Amino acid sequence: MIKKIAEEVKLLIPSIYQVKEISHETADVFTLKLAGKPIPFLPGQFNMLYHFGIGEVAISIAGWQKDLVHTIRAVGSVTNQLQKLQIGDEIGVRGPFGTAWPLSDAGGEVLVIAGGIGLATLKPALMQFASAKRRDVTLLFGAKHPDAIFYKKDLENWKNRGIKVEVTVDHADISWRGEVGVVTSLIKKNLKDPKNALVLICGPEVMIKFAVQELLEASVEEKNIHISLERNMQCAVGSCGHCQFGPYFLCKDGPVLSYQKLKHWLMIKEL
Ligand SMILES: Cc1cc2nc3c(=O)[nH]c(=O)nc-3n(C[C@H](O)[C@H](O)[C@H](O)COP(=O)(O)OP(=O)(O)OC[C@H]3O[C@@H](n4cnc5c(N)ncnc54)[C@H](O)[C@@H]3O)c2cc1C
Repeated sequence: MIKKIAEEVKLLIPSIYQVKEISHETADVFTLKLAGKPIPFLPGQFNMLYHFGIGEVAISIAGWQKDLVHTIRAVGSVTNQLQKLQIGDEIGVRGPFGTAWPLSDAGGEVLVIAGGIGLATLKPALMQFASAKRRDVTLLFGAKHPDAIFYKKDLENWKNRGIKVEVTVDHADISWRGEVGVVTSLIKKNLKDPKNALVLICGPEVMIKFAVQELLEASVEEKNIHISLERNMQCAVGSCGHCQFGPYFLCKDGPVLSYQKLKHWLMIKEL
């Protein structure tokens, strides 16, 4: 028992990382490269980032490129302060936590659906597909407007490596030559073999619900739809209960869960 408590306490203590590089992707989205001890992680997992004296937030691991990579949208008290970090500043990191995308099931067609900052959570999976030169992977990425599109270089790179990339925006001016409309409107025309397709989704909850509706109408199997859900996370080790979603603690049982497990709870408003 004491050993178990000691193990849990260890998971609550952050390690120090130093900001090595900052990329300003859009007005409110930025990527931090953090130098510190390597964190072996699986695509879909997240870390808790601690801005000393301000607070801690759950942020997906967007990669490890010599350093730890996190892409963050400044929306509130902690993320707005993280946006003000300078090269050389120190932050606390603990992790990795949570479940991963089921990439070993990705034998056939794969549809990746990302809304806004949800693309950061899916980036390590897309990088694996791109490295494997997969020709049967489609990314559908929805942003609010053209200026909100981030990872522009990665999107090009994934395209060049065989991934079909479709980007759509909710609103645009006449200079935008691409798709306009919600990302869910692209689903049916991009599914070739729905019965065997594996689908990975991360984005706002309303997008997730409409995406699932389209996928089920197109005959995608419930067990093949995997969703990353975001909730307020505090301990990240399944103790505090802040991230409880029905019977699940999303920090431990999630954030990636199959639609089969989530379906009853997803339909309950504001759960
Ligand atoms: C598993 C997991 C992975 C995550 N990965 C990422 C990631 O890779 N990048 C990233 O930027 N965020 C990610 N998030 C979301 C991130 O944790 C929250 O945005 C963050 O907790 C906000 O904290 P804050 O203190 O800055 O904002 P708060 O002060 O808590 O919130 C301020 C305001 O912003 C609103 N708000 C909070 N979160 C969001 C949101 N996500 N979108 C829009 N409005 C919001 C609140 O409703 C509130 O009105 C993830 C969350 C989880 C659970």
